Amino acid sequence: MAALTAQDETQLYYPNKMVRIILLAMEEVMGRTGVNAVLNLARLRHLVNNFPPNNFDRQFTFAELGALMRSLDEMYGPRGGRGLALRSGRACFKYGLKEFGPVLGVADLAFRLLPLHLKLKVGADVFAETFNKFSDQAVRLGEEEDRFIWQITRCPVCWGRKSETPCCFLAVGILQEALYWVSGGKNFEVNETACVACGDDVCTIVIDKKPLD
Ligand SMILES: [Zn+2]
Repeated sequence: MAALTAQDETQLYYPNKMVRIILLAMEEVMGRTGVNAVLNLARLRHLVNNFPPNNFDRQFTFAELGALMRSLDEMYGPRGGRGLALRSGRACFKYGLKEFGPVLGVADLAFRLLPLHLKLKVGADVFAETFNKFSDQAVRLGEEEDRFIWQITRCPVCWGRKSETPCCFLAVGILQEALYWVSGGKNFEVNETACVACGDDVCTIVIDKKPLD
């Protein structure tokens, strides 16, 4: 509970709506009991059976999200935690699309009619903008001939964490599902190559433009 009272200007926040999406996605993957256990371990007991309201108020700190992800690893081991974070990330996209899709125009016919390479580009831009606009997460999108570089310069997923290998699997899962949706059912190689938790300056996720299938 203590972390929530420190509404310090230097703190970075996610809006309630995004945290609600993450918890609903985790609940879909792990069940209510699983989510409650992880919330308890992360010292977020006030959210047990009491998910945040569906609004844009920025009330959930990056430190709290980092703790939530760390607890997933503590409880299920690094391998188990990684799998659950990836699957939760993928599930987040569905809930996120319901909340943000109409605002962003990505469900419009005009978007759906674009050729794949443009859909990926426009989709990635819009997606990066969503985080930049509605949360304190900062995303910078770079592009090379055969890949997109998704750089999270302020990343909540690994906030306060230390790890030998990149650990922002929730973010990787969301991107995988976003690409799957945008491309009408194709899978893409998505890899985190640098991570603040490993001592890098930013979290970097590399997305191959060519689908795997
Ligand atoms: Zn990160």
